[in-house]
Amino acid sequence: MQDLKLRASENRGKSQLEAGFDLLGWDEVTQGSVLPSFEGDASGIANLKAEERNYSGYNSYTATVASWRVVKPVFNIDVCIDCQNCWVWCPDSSILSRDKQMLGIDYDHCKGCEICVEVCPTNPKSLLMFKENEDLETALSGWPEKTKKEKN
Ligand code: SF4
Ligand code: SF4
Repeated sequence: MQDLKLRASENRGKSQLEAGFDLLGWDEVTQGSVLPSFEGDASGIANLKAEERNYSGYNSYTATVASWRVVKPVFNIDVCIDCQNCWVWCPDSSILSRDKQMLGIDYDHCKGCEICVEVCPTNPKSLLMFKENEDLETALSGWPEKTKKEKN
């Protein structure tokens, strides 16, 4: 059996490796294998909130890519119009939204790609990128004002 560290690939959670999880590499899995996303009976799982589901170790929800981030999106609820654009476009399902209300960012799964900021339509934007170590209060206190269009 190979040493666990030798089998590390870039997309495998560092914390999982350090915890010594005996995971197979992508090239070690037999064709036709099934990796269940949830532990036990998954019927009715769609009706549970994400944080209430019993994810298996194979589900990407159990891994975090937060360590990839050098900048993070900050959400300003005072400007948000709940259009859900950020929720639709986020590639990591890291926008927390419930009953079509934007609630914030799941910082365990957000990788800081900035797509949510790009697609936010408000003026000023309701999501802006800040350095990873910026505290939320400081970020929100310096939020830009609405910019007016130049009249011809
Ligand atoms: S920065 Fe990227 S990963 Fe993070 S919430 Fe925005 S779109 Fe999602
Ligand atoms: S895209 Fe902007 S306005 Fe729309 S829900 Fe997200 S944060 Fe709110």
